[in-house]
Amino acid sequence: MTVLGSWAAWPTPRHACSGYLVEHQGFGLVVDLGYATLPNLLSAVRAESVDAVLISHRHPDHLADLHPRLRARALGDSPPPALPVSTQPGAVDAVLALDGPGMLDDAYQCREFAAGDRFTLGPFSVETWLLPHFQPNAGIRLKAGGKVLAYTGDTGPSPNTVYLGLRLVVG
Ligand SMILES: [Zn+2]
Repeated sequence: MTVLGSWAAWPTPRHACSGYLVEHQGFGLVVDLGYATLPNLLSAVRAESVDAVLISHRHPDHLADLHPRLRARALGDSPPPALPVSTQPGAVDAVLALDGPGMLDDAYQCREFAAGDRFTLGPFSVETWLLPHFQPNAGIRLKAGGKVLAYTGDTGPSPNTVYLGLRLVVG
């Protein structure tokens, strides 16, 4: 896992907001892509190495840099296939609205989920849990190759965070 940023609600000159690159068996999954994370991502891997993006919730400190990533796909000379973006319904609407209607349509492939859903992304099994926040926030548990990564995004106290942690311990 590469930490692209882990700062709070806005970036500083040296700290990006939330973003994590998780790689397994050549599959690159980005979990959240907050303010100022994209330069760190592009310093770590080629853009084409990102196979999917998973967004925890709709706050910009967790997804704002998805916009320049999609813009590069939309405006590039030889754009790669659409980027799969897993998100809760409507979570990325504000980011998409930064450009004209339809401009980014070919740049991404939206895969909606509800907190509580389980699904797979490449080699990763993904479990999600609804955690308390101002917007619907999905706690995320990734499992691959016998290892587990639990991620809460933003949350208040919740039994689900304990459950995520316990699941982390027992694998
Ligand atoms: Zn938030």
